[in-house]
Amino acid sequence: MENFHTIVIGGGVLGCSVAISLKRRLGPKGKVLLVEKGTIGGGVSSEHSGIFRSVNRDEEALRMSLVASSIWHNLSEYWGTSVPLEVNGSLWIADASHGDAWREIAAASQRNDVTFSEVEPSRAQELSGGAISIGDGELYFHEPGAFQLLPDQLREGQRQALDANGVRFQERCPVHNIAFNGAGRVEGVESEEGRFGCSHLVNAARAWSSELLGRNGVHLPIRMEPVFIGNWESREGGVSPSMPIIGDYVNEAYFRSWPGGQLHMHRPRNRESAWVEDLFRKQSPIGLGEDYEDYQSPWDPEHSRVQQDYERRIRNRFPHLEGLSPTKGRIRYFDITPDHRFVLGADGEVPNLYHSVGGGQAMKYAPLFGEILGEMITEGSAAPLGFQLDRFSVDRFRKRAGATEPVIRDSRGTL
Ligand SMILES: Cc1cc2nc3c(=O)[nH]c(=O)nc-3n(C[C@H](O)[C@H](O)[C@H](O)COP(=O)(O)OP(=O)(O)OC[C@H]3O[C@@H](n4cnc5c(N)ncnc54)[C@H](O)[C@@H]3O)c2cc1C
Repeated sequence: MENFHTIVIGGGVLGCSVAISLKRRLGPKGKVLLVEKGTIGGGVSSEHSGIFRSVNRDEEALRMSLVASSIWHNLSEYWGTSVPLEVNGSLWIADASHGDAWREIAAASQRNDVTFSEVEPSRAQELSGGAISIGDGELYFHEPGAFQLLPDQLREGQRQALDANGVRFQERCPVHNIAFNGAGRVEGVESEEGRFGCSHLVNAARAWSSELLGRNGVHLPIRMEPVFIGNWESREGGVSPSMPIIGDYVNEAYFRSWPGGQLHMHRPRNRESAWVEDLFRKQSPIGLGEDYEDYQSPWDPEHSRVQQDYERRIRNRFPHLEGLSPTKGRIRYFDITPDHRFVLGADGEVPNLYHSVGGGQAMKYAPLFGEILGEMITEGSAAPLGFQLDRFSVDRFRKRAGATEPVIRDSRGTL
């Protein structure tokens, strides 16, 4: 059996980032294996919206995003390769009745050195290049440092970085089981390509982690919440490539420019359980839509109601876009934990197991999470890069001694 310093399960943006950071730190003295059941970057990491914004209600997440932003801008120092970024900034459109909450977020952003400030409607329209409509009862905030990237280019950059750093990766190789020794330490994995031994194991298998690790008593309460993403072309040039990212909380939609003048859009995830169940019945989240395809498929006729709803929202916000026609539309799945925070760091119960999963919007943190786990695993650091990870530990979902319930049971934000 071949042995590795670390095996990473899951070749999405999170798994690749950990493998790259670890291998760079270990150099020739430590071997790293990345095992992926499909293709590298072929999971949800192939079809996200590629938006990076620092602004966040959670100040710790905001501080993390500042460091993550700096890593993205200097990626070649960390990965030996870079990914093209478009620093278009972002415009946030808020309902004026929630103005106090938004102004608090702006104050917290400023405390943490993130520029995020309210702008006049006329300035918002100017920043958008005249693309957006301005409505009564709306507030506008500008985050000039927000940027966007393309999933395909990120995927390509990751593959190059895996090669450049000497990470061994195995595609089309599902891990079926995790092997433990008598002392409860991970010894290795059993996969389609046989057994591999390791001193450390990183779980970056997203929502599949629950099934994979649950058999060994490691419970990760991650569920999937569906969301449609789509791109549209329009007559007369479409949207400008330099258009800021539009976080439209009045229309409940995120918009960005996409190559070829296309407008890209997704709505916040749908949490209505009957709707989610219906989708799951009709369309398995695993297999369908989770494997990478360079697709240009139009909307599925079954989803025409969603498509019409999306187009209505586009017309509301972009009244000048003529002759909209969809170029692709697809359902994707966010991976959500009960408190909406990611699971990052040491497992706590299994001494040589680590996690990097969950949290919904995690692409933007990926290279930072890689550095955090890289430092934690190679140096045994308890607060890697100065971040305390207790609040992201899987331990928060476990029962305390003598308690009848874990600290966090389920439902949103119960702590
Ligand atoms: C519509 C949409 C838009 C988004 N937009 C943004 C955005 O703008 N900005 C942002 O920061 N985030 C965004 N996200 C979130 C972002 O896409 C994810 O947080 C990120 O891609 C997750 O990466 P991952 O590596 O955990 O998952 P994945 O890419 O799914 O990787 C997990 C991998 O594990 C593999 N795997 C699972 N089980 C096994 C096994 N047993 N053996 C081997 N391999 C296994 C899978 O095949 C998969 O490739 C968006 C998500 C969605 C759905």
